[in-house]
Amino acid sequence: MKVKTNYVNAPVWKEVNVKSRIPESLKMLEEMARNIWWAWNDEATEMFRELDPELWSFVKQNPVALLERLSYEKLEALCNNKEVLSRINHIYDKFKTYVNTKPDATRPSVAYFCMEYGLTHVLKIYSGGLGILAGDYLKEASDSNVDMCGIGFLYRYGYFDQSLSMDGQQIANYEAQNFGSLPIERVMDENGSPLVLDVPYLNYYVHAYVWKVNVGRVPLYLLDTDNEMNSEFDRPITYQLYGGDWENRLKQEILLGIGGVLLLKRLGIKKDVYHCNEGHAALCNVQRLCDYVESGMSFEEALEVVRASSLYTVHTPVPAGHDYFDEGLFGKYMGGYPQRMGISWQELMDLGRINPGDNNERFCMSTFACNTCQEVNGVSWLHGKVSQEMFAGIWKGYFPEENHVGYVTNGVHFPTWCASEWKALYSKYFDKNFMADQSNPSIWEKIYNVPDEEIWQTRMALKNKLINYVRNQYRDTWLKNQGDPSRVVTLMDKINPNALLIGFARRFATYKRAHLLFTDLDRLSKIVNNPDYPVQFLFAGKAHPHDGAGQGLIKKIVEISRRPEFMGKIIFLENYDMKLARRLVSGVDIWMNTPTRPLEASGTSGEKALMNGVVNFSVLDGWWLEGYREGAGWALTEKRTYQNQEYQDQLDAATIYSILETEILPLYYARNKKGYSEGWVKTIKNSIAQIAPHYTMKRQLDDYYTKFYTKEAERFHALAANNFEKVKELAAWQEEVAAKWDSIQIVSMDKSQELRQGNVESGKDYTITCVVDEKGLNDAIGIEQVITYTSVEGKEHIYSVAPMKMIKREGDLYTFQVINSLSNAGSFKVSYRMFPKHPYLAHRQEFCYVRWFNMD
Ligand SMILES: *Cc1c(COP(=O)(O)O)cnc(C)c1O
Repeated sequence: MKVKTNYVNAPVWKEVNVKSRIPESLKMLEEMARNIWWAWNDEATEMFRELDPELWSFVKQNPVALLERLSYEKLEALCNNKEVLSRINHIYDKFKTYVNTKPDATRPSVAYFCMEYGLTHVLKIYSGGLGILAGDYLKEASDSNVDMCGIGFLYRYGYFDQSLSMDGQQIANYEAQNFGSLPIERVMDENGSPLVLDVPYLNYYVHAYVWKVNVGRVPLYLLDTDNEMNSEFDRPITYQLYGGDWENRLKQEILLGIGGVLLLKRLGIKKDVYHCNEGHAALCNVQRLCDYVESGMSFEEALEVVRASSLYTVHTPVPAGHDYFDEGLFGKYMGGYPQRMGISWQELMDLGRINPGDNNERFCMSTFACNTCQEVNGVSWLHGKVSQEMFAGIWKGYFPEENHVGYVTNGVHFPTWCASEWKALYSKYFDKNFMADQSNPSIWEKIYNVPDEEIWQTRMALKNKLINYVRNQYRDTWLKNQGDPSRVVTLMDKINPNALLIGFARRFATYKRAHLLFTDLDRLSKIVNNPDYPVQFLFAGKAHPHDGAGQGLIKKIVEISRRPEFMGKIIFLENYDMKLARRLVSGVDIWMNTPTRPLEASGTSGEKALMNGVVNFSVLDGWWLEGYREGAGWALTEKRTYQNQEYQDQLDAATIYSILETEILPLYYARNKKGYSEGWVKTIKNSIAQIAPHYTMKRQLDDYYTKFYTKEAERFHALAANNFEKVKELAAWQEEVAAKWDSIQIVSMDKSQELRQGNVESGKDYTITCVVDEKGLNDAIGIEQVITYTSVEGKEHIYSVAPMKMIKREGDLYTFQVINSLSNAGSFKVSYRMFPKHPYLAHRQEFCYVRWFNMD
């Protein structure tokens, strides 16, 4: 054959990225697009939208993608539009004034480490509450003008988009992100090439590109390993948020902690305080310890310095929520570090164990964080208490209620979560200084001066906006997954803007009990089908792809929502993200949360609802336990009646139905002549005036400063002065005390006959004296008397701690004495505790040597 049937070579394609050639007079748009300041400045977002509303919606509200796709003709037309140009200039001036303000140098600087950041739905580097919190925090750090930077990951796939199959099964779609079209910048090196960070793993390096998100004035650095310099085993390190196996998780945590600190060094950034937001980042302290030891310090000195400058925030209330690594896996990657830190492998492992020396215990990131951070905090008052218990085993010798674990209750970033309609209302009635002083309750009091009608109308407007959004956004999705088009039409028709609308949206973790409302379907059906009191529920939320039970809950709710009696009364909205969250928390009438107490460490979505005049109806857990005020929302009591969870669920469900029937619905429908409920508006006003000011992110940021950052930075700088003079002194003293601890002797103890026999009278003073031989230590020991009682639940608690005063010193012999009495009659236990004391120590748990004694 001389002629082949086919003779074609493969086309040689060359990729050409055609970007819009932005005219000079519009260059400022590019600059603004790459600073997500627009995400919380409605005016700026609106400016981008108006450039091309259709395209804006097509590019999913991403200004970088919008500018990329605007045609040259369109851009030219804009250039010739004086009105548009003057508006852009006006906003640009505001923007420049904002970003050019230098940070407040009087407040300590902070490096903030977190696995996820929820800044805008455009950047899919968050999954839920933890991320939103971190994102809100950086925005507030920018608004409050503090010196902070964030460290995190740029995930190739991020967290998934959720859709539902016909039968309500969750489908997780991971979409690869095109980094070039995101509102981020690549960080370059000195030579103008992309900066590459080399992070040691095993016997080689993983190479990470570095990206920067401009969060107003605050930079957030994101590491990215998905590049051709890495092997197929390492590229996926930053593929997914909470994806992959334990080995990948460890590799991620090495990148975040160790890589994060290496990055700061590479960029020449030094901060006063290093904040581990959740235990994922705790390995940052491994790198910091290495750095100090390699600069010539002993491990003990380095540990003091690192501790003094670090804070660990825990977000889970249960030990199962922490990350644990098997010794083998941990050793595979971390085996080289002990030598660099000047300690043994056993010693490194023990820093991550509740019981040092117990070789069956895995390495726990949270325990390591507790051992290497001076301060630890939970995220609400109750969660602080729970965390004291959870970590008590690390500081044996002290009761849970005595340890230093504190709390800062989470808040939310007002400009991000407050709808522009409410912002307008607040700026009309509130003090001019409102934004700068937004956690000041006296400013919020002014809500009582707003006419009732205006509040009601604002609420109705936002509710209609939400309903229209649902109708427009979900029609296509529902046509796809509900099969029958006529059903979808019926569903749409049934959504009633005049009905009371209740929202429930969050991650579908089982402890959040999304199913609670569906405990008694007959009763629920009666409630939603009462023609006098129409009520509708909107549900939304993603379940983790590995959480079968959570996905089961979604399926169950979807199934129930399709029954005839619940059609249009209970609606599940797919793909809960920041965008949908903003709509929901401003559009519904009531925000409901029904977790199993005390598993909701804080929760924040209800706080977003507050500032939009949406009333909370929730279990007294997390922030709501602190926030709830009578007449300003509804609370499900915190009292636990049944040990059995199923009974408890039934009781809690019955309480929900009953509060709905007897309180919420009658109040909402008690309409006056003008067509609104005065009682309802009063509840909204109470909720805004009495609760909202306490849950802003500004309040949270200020709390972190007053409770932790400032205190730590002061101590750190005092310790570090004169080439770490005080650290060296403190570490030498600790070594000496540790060496002599076991030889310290309680020489004698003198108590009254009654105390000895365990029979004392209330109100009567007793004198206790004891003599201690410090064996050459110089006044290094404190003694205290500890009295405990047993609670009704059978737990031992502190009744009193009385320091014993040193009244005499003769050589090595120190005499301590206390005179005190018990004011209550009852059964108590008395013991005595010896501990090391030094003015440079931050607290007792820092040098947790304790010896109990009780001599007769
Ligand atoms: C606020 C928010 C959360 C966290 O809210 P919780 O009350 O803690 O459940 C989770 N996801 C999204 C999208 C949010 O906006």
